Amino acid sequence: MTIRYAVRPADPGAHLFHVTVSLEQPDSQGQCFALPAWNPGSYMIREFARHIVRLTALAGGRKLRVEKLDKHTWRCARTNEKELTLAYEIYAFDLSVRAAYLDPEQALFNGAALFLAPAGREREDCRLDIFPPPGARAANWRLITGLAAARGTRLGECGTYLARDYEELIDCPVQMGRFAHRRFNVHGVPHEIAVSGRVPRLDLDRVQADLTRLCEAHVRLFEPRQPRPPFDCYAFLTLAVDDGYGGLEHRNSSALICRRDDLPHRGMKESTEGYRRFLGLVSHEYFHVWNVKRIRPQRFVPYDLGRENYTRLLWAFEGFTAYYDDLMLARAGLLSQPQYLEALGRTMSTVMQRSARLKQSLAESSFDAWIKYYRQDENAPNSVVSYYQKGALVALALDLAIRHQCGGRRSLDDVMRWLWRQCRSAGAAYPGIGEDGILDAVAQATGLDLARTLHAWTEGTRDPDFANLLQTVGIRLERKLALESPHFALLGLKLQGAAGEARIAQIFDGGPAQQAGLSAGDVLVALDDLRVTPARLDALLARYSPGDTVQVLAFRREELQRLELRLSRQPPLRFVLEADNKASAAVKRQRLAWCGERRSG
Ligand SMILES: [Zn+2]
Repeated sequence: MTIRYAVRPADPGAHLFHVTVSLEQPDSQGQCFALPAWNPGSYMIREFARHIVRLTALAGGRKLRVEKLDKHTWRCARTNEKELTLAYEIYAFDLSVRAAYLDPEQALFNGAALFLAPAGREREDCRLDIFPPPGARAANWRLITGLAAARGTRLGECGTYLARDYEELIDCPVQMGRFAHRRFNVHGVPHEIAVSGRVPRLDLDRVQADLTRLCEAHVRLFEPRQPRPPFDCYAFLTLAVDDGYGGLEHRNSSALICRRDDLPHRGMKESTEGYRRFLGLVSHEYFHVWNVKRIRPQRFVPYDLGRENYTRLLWAFEGFTAYYDDLMLARAGLLSQPQYLEALGRTMSTVMQRSARLKQSLAESSFDAWIKYYRQDENAPNSVVSYYQKGALVALALDLAIRHQCGGRRSLDDVMRWLWRQCRSAGAAYPGIGEDGILDAVAQATGLDLARTLHAWTEGTRDPDFANLLQTVGIRLERKLALESPHFALLGLKLQGAAGEARIAQIFDGGPAQQAGLSAGDVLVALDDLRVTPARLDALLARYSPGDTVQVLAFRREELQRLELRLSRQPPLRFVLEADNKASAAVKRQRLAWCGERRSG
């Protein structure tokens, strides 16, 4: 049987969607419905049910009593009617990639935030009727989604869309409104991108050309013999905003949020840092098509949408993806080698400058993502290691170790392809990756025994020997004093913003600010009797040397504090990666094979 959903952007000004779900032969003992507590890919309990404003159940033309069982589960009264409809209103005002948003200009929704699942009926196919908002202004709203259009509905327009089951329904977000749009092919498979938000003179031709090249490189990585992506169509749903950055991966689409200034304008020839950041986001979410959307932890097969799904492997699913996002840009020729090495150096500096990596392992960080990585507070740099950033560095170290020990005949690419072959050949019977499965995959794909090393990097807190590993591909790793940001280097703190008062956002472990007794939330007002603002702090500090003593005035809860602070004698280090031009020809070949530019077609 088919579960029928309908979504109406009924009151865009009030940010209200009207949703109905209808099913035949409801449970005669009282049909239950539940809304997911989280959205796969975003590991935090979000309790979307808190946005349901009112809900009614109808059967045989009459209202049915509904009882709430817990925060996201409803049970309808018993009925012998053949059909049951639940109608409810949802407040949608979360302009992000992971929930639902509606205003008179646009809408973007994830099914997890909108569609109640009838208990026990999650495997049945779904039909979704999407209506335009009322009023003439919305007459030309278009739509983009990974869902398949039913017969009679023109792709890109409101109408009826289909999903094989509930999991697919909520894995295909929908973006509506007026937007810039392009269609293009990647190895013969249609792709499309929509960009909503005002972006003056947006150069979508360039975006389309770059995305084509990038996506083709990804497909070739996983399917080198017969390049073909594992879906029939793909959609990039993009929100351009003034300030924002993030993405969420789905089986055949991704939702992206980026700064409008990061997108290229017509006539712009160069590759700005902002545009590279946007391409990196696209690359990241597209790599997830394989890594996490298909190759996935056993603990996610199937997802339990009612509660946390614990795995110790996010370092492989997010970290490896974070490693490949920029690497694939370099390989596709969208990032030059120096640009790639600079990005890698930045990641390395961030991870190595924080003490969190010595206290929490990558496996622990993965497991606790729900309460730590996704719910960071001011102490996060001292307590939460990023399974993205350190995971990417472990992927780098693993890749270089494999390349070196196999004389360049194997790499992490082979591990990814091995994982993908297991997943593809198992089809619907795919069991997912067990918690030790990555170690096993490395051994199977490369013939190397790296289990102890990888275990120490992921279950323990040992740092890989980056300098030696990078040398094998002719990259020199230099450590320099991180003096470009004096308040971080000499005081060991970060401020909340670049304007207004100098309020401390974070205090770094064991640093001068902590030792002097400063704390997050304190407002710096003077240094050696000179007024401090965020704009002046670094210029002021540049006049001092490491180890100097300064008098600090700060407010804590409006009470003035007088402190003496000794500027750091050992400022933190930053890492600079540079290609060694004196490396042998053989080593240079390894470097090219690893991150070299390969022009496509
Ligand atoms: Zn990711």
